[in-house]
Amino acid sequence: MLTFDEEIRPTAAPAGVTGAFNTTPIQQPAFAPVTPVNATAAASTGRIRVEDKRIINCKADVNQLVPFKYKWAWEKYLAACANHWMPQEVNMTADIALWKSDKLSDDERRLIKRNLGFFTTADSLAANNIVLGSYRHITNPECRQFLLRQAFEEAIHTHAYQYIVESLGLDEGEIFNMYHEVPSIRNKDEFLLPYIDVLTNPEFKTGTPETDQALLRSLIVFACIMEGLFFYVGFVQILALGRQNKMTGAAEQYQYILRDESMHLNFGVDLINQIKMENPHLWTAAFREEIRGLMQKGVELEYAYAEDTMPRGILGLNSTMFKEYLRFIANRRCQQIGVDILYPGATNPFPWMAEMIDLKKEKNFFETRVTEYQTGGSLSWD
Ligand code: FE
Repeated sequence: MLTFDEEIRPTAAPAGVTGAFNTTPIQQPAFAPVTPVNATAAASTGRIRVEDKRIINCKADVNQLVPFKYKWAWEKYLAACANHWMPQEVNMTADIALWKSDKLSDDERRLIKRNLGFFTTADSLAANNIVLGSYRHITNPECRQFLLRQAFEEAIHTHAYQYIVESLGLDEGEIFNMYHEVPSIRNKDEFLLPYIDVLTNPEFKTGTPETDQALLRSLIVFACIMEGLFFYVGFVQILALGRQNKMTGAAEQYQYILRDESMHLNFGVDLINQIKMENPHLWTAAFREEIRGLMQKGVELEYAYAEDTMPRGILGLNSTMFKEYLRFIANRRCQQIGVDILYPGATNPFPWMAEMIDLKKEKNFFETRVTEYQTGGSLSWD
């Protein structure tokens, strides 16, 4: 049984740090040993050896998946495939009836629309960042295999948000343009864009300390701030609606998306920590401090988005709770990649989110769908 809650994931934490998420100690990952760069010379003799493989700046053939070196990447690829789902498998009938009724308040409608206003374009940004940006610079086939799966999942997520907008009959022009027109959404995206642009620039090449740091910075912004922080106000809001038996179809879609995104985050964290181990010269005190500054900026932007989507407290949520939650999440992200936390003492006001991430197959349609997807590879041709 695969589990996806963040508490048990095998991500490195700095020595002496215990997980603020709960009391479970954060396990050390099964990271591959670091190999000196000159070992890649063996590649010229023919067959690729495990020790020739590196996450970035690998001189060996990048087409050959095995021998595996980074088993954590391959295992995450397998787990992601086992969680396959499609948006149209979720029944949206109750959501459509509720949206057409007078049972949703104006504040709830504003929240739903601005929530979709961020997400309808967010996963396109994430997909473009992978396909046009980071994929090219990650020189390891196991990690690329996960990135290919991740890119498809971003497409599924964009599909899911479009499917919700279409099902509810929302004004597509209004929702899909919010990333231009609503400042709290635009500001988040504008924060991210330079970190995509650096990697998609055809002139950009890794191989110097400066460019390797630029790649690492971009990976951290995407995994820990975009997927690891900017998604969480939105996830909490829709899942809180679902817990009150409102917009249950949308909430179910978000639950599957949250599970996928939790995996993207966990892969990203492992990728970042492996790059750090292989390139310790990149992880300077100044660089770590810069990352803390970016994380702090991310918290401010996401908090502004929380206030804008719900200017008054609704659904038992209010902006003070989101401020605390974002601080708690930001601390967790800092711990996961080994930088000093920003907000000592921050606690989690939404402990129920852990259950949402650890989605049990027996509680939903995955009980049947996952089985079908998993056995799809054993077709008989007789
Ligand atoms: Fe993602």
